[in-house]
Amino acid sequence: MNKSIPYGKQWIDDEDIQAVVNVLKSDFLTTGPKVSEFEERLEEYTGAKYAVAFSNGTAALHAACYAAGIGEGDEVITTPITFAASANCALYVGARPVFADICSDTYNIDPSEIVNKVTPNTKAIIPVDYTGQPCDLDRIMEIAKKYNLIVIEDAAHSIGATYKGRKVGSIADMTTFSFHPVKTITTGEGGAVTTNSKEFYEKLIFFRSHGITRDEDKLINRHEGAWFYEQQLLGYNYRLTDIQAALGISQLKKLDKFINLRREFAKQYSDAFQDEEGIIIPYQSPDGNSAWHIYVVQLDTEKLIIGRKEFFNMLQERGIRANVHYIPVYYNPYYQKLGYKKGLCPKAEALYERIITLPLFAKLEQSEIDYVIETTRSILQKNRL
Ligand SMILES: *Cc1c(COP(=O)(O)O)cnc(C)c1O
Repeated sequence: MNKSIPYGKQWIDDEDIQAVVNVLKSDFLTTGPKVSEFEERLEEYTGAKYAVAFSNGTAALHAACYAAGIGEGDEVITTPITFAASANCALYVGARPVFADICSDTYNIDPSEIVNKVTPNTKAIIPVDYTGQPCDLDRIMEIAKKYNLIVIEDAAHSIGATYKGRKVGSIADMTTFSFHPVKTITTGEGGAVTTNSKEFYEKLIFFRSHGITRDEDKLINRHEGAWFYEQQLLGYNYRLTDIQAALGISQLKKLDKFINLRREFAKQYSDAFQDEEGIIIPYQSPDGNSAWHIYVVQLDTEKLIIGRKEFFNMLQERGIRANVHYIPVYYNPYYQKLGYKKGLCPKAEALYERIITLPLFAKLEQSEIDYVIETTRSILQKNRL
């Protein structure tokens, strides 16, 4: 391989480019017809009643926390094996993230660990569909119902995945998506929240644009004229542009194709690695419902003479730009300063020591997949005990 292979990458074609160019030539660059159309397409695709587009996935999580009414003194339960944004959003609204340990098969948040962490202050659960594999949503929704909690599913990895035949985005109280370029479809930067609740939907719309409304029916004071608007709460500017939304509409048409390719490539990896000593392939659900955002292997370091770091560096030297998803969120100095201690989630911490993310994206070429398989195998073969 004379070029290096990243762990993830977007796929932009001429149709995507044309869609963006068309917006640039139109009257609206932001909050025009394309944002509403993108939202409608997301509603159709996920089966949710409402979709609200945001400037990025983190803004979507922040807005969902606001809409859920999470605030000062509340606790929000999430997983440590995620990107920091899944926990930061609780901090944004003055709440405290509480980390629950993971399941040893799917690496997703363990519902029984959630139950252990519930206190009278718990307000919400933010499960993450890690790698694209949906969480145990039935059990999580059941726990939420029992303790009167709101479920905000972080589906940054799992757009297009299904859970028991239902599309992700239609199941939790609110579901958040990201359209960052490494995610399955992209708008450059972008995000969305889907929900079936009109109440949440209206709050999300308010929050996205400064807490301002022009809707006469919603005004607190008297309507003074056509120019009139009211700021009723402290919102933000978290809007997506029409330029980005046009790209999103175009990308969404290709989502199923992208996922099918990802599933096919993940299967090739798993078939190749399943009988190899020293490597543990990722969970595969019986119904094959994962969106396969990332392909995460565990190194069985007891069977190898090298550790994860050496393995990672050997891949790197051979042109495979692997990654590690994720460093437990509370290992970060910011969280350590807030008082979170190592040892909090032993399974997550043990997993972190052994994982590597191999390249997986729809535009991978067969020769690249073969190269990743051969290279990984040869590193394993030369470094077994
Ligand atoms: C990417 C990601 C986010 C944040 O999305 P942005 O669009 O980058 O803000 C949140 N949670 C998870 C699990 C992610 O992978």
